[in-house]
Amino acid sequence: MPSSPSQIRLRWIYIAFLLSLLAILAHGLIPHRKLELIPSADITSLYSDEQSGGNTRAEWIDRDSYHFRCTYIDEPASSKYCGMNIAQGDGLKQGVDFSHFKYIALNLEYTGNAPILRVYFRHYGENYSTRSDSQRTAKYNRSLIPIEHLHGTLTLNIRQFTVADWWIARYGATQELLQPEFTNIINLGIDTPANTPVGVHEFRVVSMEAHGEWISREHWYLVIGCFWFVALLLVSFQKYVTLRRQVSDSAQKLNEAITKARKLEAESAKYRELSQIDQLTQTLNRRGLMQTIDRYDHAKSWFSTAVILLDVDHFKQINDNYGHNSGDKVLAQIGRILRENVRTQDDVGRWGGEEFILVCPKTTAAGATAIAEKIRAIIDYKTFSIENDFRVSVSVGISIGHRSEHFEDVYHRADHALYEAKNSGRNCVVVAAEDATIA
Ligand code: GH3
Ligand code: MG
Ligand code: MG
Repeated sequence: MPSSPSQIRLRWIYIAFLLSLLAILAHGLIPHRKLELIPSADITSLYSDEQSGGNTRAEWIDRDSYHFRCTYIDEPASSKYCGMNIAQGDGLKQGVDFSHFKYIALNLEYTGNAPILRVYFRHYGENYSTRSDSQRTAKYNRSLIPIEHLHGTLTLNIRQFTVADWWIARYGATQELLQPEFTNIINLGIDTPANTPVGVHEFRVVSMEAHGEWISREHWYLVIGCFWFVALLLVSFQKYVTLRRQVSDSAQKLNEAITKARKLEAESAKYRELSQIDQLTQTLNRRGLMQTIDRYDHAKSWFSTAVILLDVDHFKQINDNYGHNSGDKVLAQIGRILRENVRTQDDVGRWGGEEFILVCPKTTAAGATAIAEKIRAIIDYKTFSIENDFRVSVSVGISIGHRSEHFEDVYHRADHALYEAKNSGRNCVVVAAEDATIA
């Protein structure tokens, strides 16, 4: 079975989680960063106070194996010094960054009677060193080595380096300068500290290495954390985009469905109306009228409802004299007159042929007569001008519904009244005899 996008996403999250766990555990497997300091391709030299007027002698026994000798002749003094120096970078100003290293591994063989030796790293700082005198002004970071520690390879943690007292006394005016620095080391080396006893001191440096990590544990975890942050951000963003798309798709579909439903409703309303309207006269057709009648029957509302029957006089003659088409036009115009002259609560429809019916609720005989008279008069006085001018009249029969009557009862009386109107010479309104007194 194909996987859903959310299952695929979950699978990727599991994989990434496992990889992250492995990455956390794998930090220890990342190879160490190692820099060989001795043997070195850099300039290696010996120095002593002889160069500044003293008598301590520094001399190579075997330069290639970093084997040298310091001979202190006079009484111990702080002005006496002797050691081996290895330049780093240009050896003057542009040094090497040792800040990433954690410890120095030193294999040093020594013979002599000095109780303490020194390893030093000199740092060139823009705010306290000068290029012309960098050998003196560079910060002197050193680690003291008691002679009894010299067995095989010795590990000197970078953190155990401190700034030499004489350098602080001379240049370390501010608090910040008291801290050792390793970002720009211009030289390093091994020497004897002040007050080294008189005698011969022999050194042979077998090896000297700086060790550190390519990436610290903290940075490694930070990288993994950043990866997760970015990955989760991307996943959330993708989810947000998908959801937005889904929401807008759904909204669009909903809108389309609503529009369609409205259209259908409008259409069905139109057809419903069309099916109930007589196309020629635009009044209710027989079906529309039957619905009205059923409504009244159902609600037993015939009481005080007027039924007005209206029949065009000698309509056959109109057809005969002016043509069927003219007859139609007369019917259409009478339909309009009826529609325009009834109240909103009244229903008007074509009962058949040239006969119309009006259903007027809550109407007295007098009220119904007034409506019928008005319509009769309008038609009577109107000149129908289709191809020729001619006059048309209508006869009207009225009845008013009694309590618990049905349509047939009321209609029957109205029809009878209409018959009387015809018999009375047409173009008149007759109220059914039983209803004439209904107020
Ligand atoms: P009366 O005054 O007694 O009512 O006479 P009349 O001629 O109006 O009555 P009759 O019932 O004799 O004739 C009705 C005529 O109406 C007959 C028929 O051809 C015509 N007619 C019925 N429906 C239509 C129609 O839709 N269009 C037209 N043009 N004529 C119609
Ligand atoms: Mg007629
Ligand atoms: Mg008729």
